[in-house]
Amino acid sequence: MKLEGIHHISAITGDARGNVEFYAGVLGLRMVKRTVNQDEPNVYHLFYGDEHGSPGMDLTFFEYPGAARGIAGSGMVHRILWRVSSPDALGFWRERLEAVGVSAELTGDSLLFADPEGLGHELVASASPDEPLSAISPEIPPEHALQGFEGVRAYASQPVRSERLLGEALGFARRQGEHWEVRGDRRGSFYAYDPAPPEINRRQGAGTVHHVAFASQPDDLEAWRTRASEAGARPTPVIDRFYFKSVYFLEPSGVLFELATIGPGFAVDEDEKHLGERLSLPPPFEPMREELEAKLEPLPYPPQWRVQQP
Ligand code: ZN
Repeated sequence: MKLEGIHHISAITGDARGNVEFYAGVLGLRMVKRTVNQDEPNVYHLFYGDEHGSPGMDLTFFEYPGAARGIAGSGMVHRILWRVSSPDALGFWRERLEAVGVSAELTGDSLLFADPEGLGHELVASASPDEPLSAISPEIPPEHALQGFEGVRAYASQPVRSERLLGEALGFARRQGEHWEVRGDRRGSFYAYDPAPPEINRRQGAGTVHHVAFASQPDDLEAWRTRASEAGARPTPVIDRFYFKSVYFLEPSGVLFELATIGPGFAVDEDEKHLGERLSLPPPFEPMREELEAKLEPLPYPPQWRVQQP
């Protein structure tokens, strides 16, 4: 039984429109699902990814309109790392980001920048053998497109506390120091800790990561839940999120983990050619459609070029 790397990463935005403009517009990701927060259905839950909405390339945002900026602290993911194919791609992205006023720092083999709300990103020229997962955008040459998650970095004050859960229960492999690899038969990612900044500033809010989800084979989820529980975590019951099934628990350093199944996926309730173009509501929320559509701000998506695709 193995986890297949990162399934998705969920963060918070205070501005859904600006979020779409940045992630679908500037970064060229596809919106693969436009739905609501199942725990609070009057706000958006937006999913961005590759053309197919694959696990391994899925960044999601809960929108809390007007939410204050957060600050990543101990027990929070502070940076998301994405694969690109080559150092040339880093140069392309530096130019593209700077052209829209986002400063980007080239540091040898990677490019550091933050989204408009301060969420940290890093692009790395990756030698990973994993299948590249990319979206199509007319503004991004295919060879420069983002190719999926390389990993995440979190802050921890005492990462030693997480060793048993990561290493024994979840099958993460320690590579060096506080750098762990989580790899299955098809894909892998890394999970790493950095020393925590002073505790006083930590605040969940816009531009911070809410949780990171790792990919489970559909039939393994209950067994993973049992393992997490035996290692001292307090997992939720299996929750049916309609697009996948999930279990959540805090890992001992304080980062909220989710284990999510590979599938059924985002094409379960709409044609894969038109993912994200309209509001999708899982069956329990469908009766609220009219009310929700009246409350939710219209979004600048899909772009014309996508509507016109055959
Ligand atoms: Zn999640």
